[in-house]
Amino acid sequence: MALMTEQTDLFGMNLSELEAEILKLGLSKFRAKQIFNWIYLKSSNNFEEMTDLPQKNLSLLQEKFKIGSLSLIERQVSSDGTRKYLFALEDGNLVESVLMSFEDGKRLTACISSQIGCAVKCPFCSTGTLGFKKNLRAEEILEQVHLIQNIEKERISNIVFMGQGEPLNNYDSVVKATQGLRELIGIGARHITISTSGVIPKIDKLAKEKIQLTLALSLHDPDDEDRDVLVPINKKWKINELMSSMKNYVKSTNRRVTIEYVLLKGMNDSNKKAESLGKLVSDLHCNINLIPYNQSCSDTVFLRPDDKRVLEFSEVVKRFSKGKTVTIRQEKGHDIKAACGQLESSYRKSLH
Ligand code: SF4
Repeated sequence: MALMTEQTDLFGMNLSELEAEILKLGLSKFRAKQIFNWIYLKSSNNFEEMTDLPQKNLSLLQEKFKIGSLSLIERQVSSDGTRKYLFALEDGNLVESVLMSFEDGKRLTACISSQIGCAVKCPFCSTGTLGFKKNLRAEEILEQVHLIQNIEKERISNIVFMGQGEPLNNYDSVVKATQGLRELIGIGARHITISTSGVIPKIDKLAKEKIQLTLALSLHDPDDEDRDVLVPINKKWKINELMSSMKNYVKSTNRRVTIEYVLLKGMNDSNKKAESLGKLVSDLHCNINLIPYNQSCSDTVFLRPDDKRVLEFSEVVKRFSKGKTVTIRQEKGHDIKAACGQLESSYRKSLH
């Protein structure tokens, strides 16, 4: 009986790593460059479409190598063009990514996941209710972007780490993935945003790396007592410490940060909260992004405030934050469960 040899995964390798693998097979180094270009410039994951490779090498390459380990389980398209993907890892775990189009398609932003589940357990988040399962490898994070480009035949311009998971709880893989995004896929650091719930030691570590990416803080409440409930990691790292850490990040990187604030009706959307939020961030070099809660398909008790409340909240924040830019996030993919964790949890339910 023939023994199956395990295939080496070429995805995530840089050019010199790829050359070493190709040389081991006795093929010319030049073939590595061709394969490298197909994978990262043309988002290919199939040797058969690499038309400049000699046919005679094809079966050897297919036998020894594979390109990536994720497979597409489901793709949904929203009426506004937002696309959502459910990918399976090799071990059967499921991971979600979302593709959003802005400025008439000039800006294509992929929202990617860094973990399966999440330990932070924010009560309004579908992923949080799953609990933490595992960290993704850097290659699995990067491959979400690669596969979306492969499926859509379009290049992604921006990345946000706002899918499933707390990125800074998977620090090494996330930082390695941002390196891959920049050096392999060609997305500049300034087009990458990492969103954190406030893991202070890792914010401080990231500040020292001096990568020119954008750091977003999911603040969601300006008072410790209420934030302890909405973002339970706050029980460990309080708001004042968090603000110092964010200021330090700005000082070290010279980058403006973003404050994310999900608006939940009757919980954190009063004018008093808006005033406290404005004052809290007035000395921080930041933009504020308000996110009216995506209530469309959640099982939770949280509600979305009406548009009038959202507008008034944003005016009060502007007034008390010394004129900071306050944006209200355009809702995307309302009809396809585009908030993180929602597609995965509904897919799971459909299996039962
Ligand atoms: S909102 Fe983010 S940090 Fe909070 S549970 Fe969900 S994935 Fe985790």
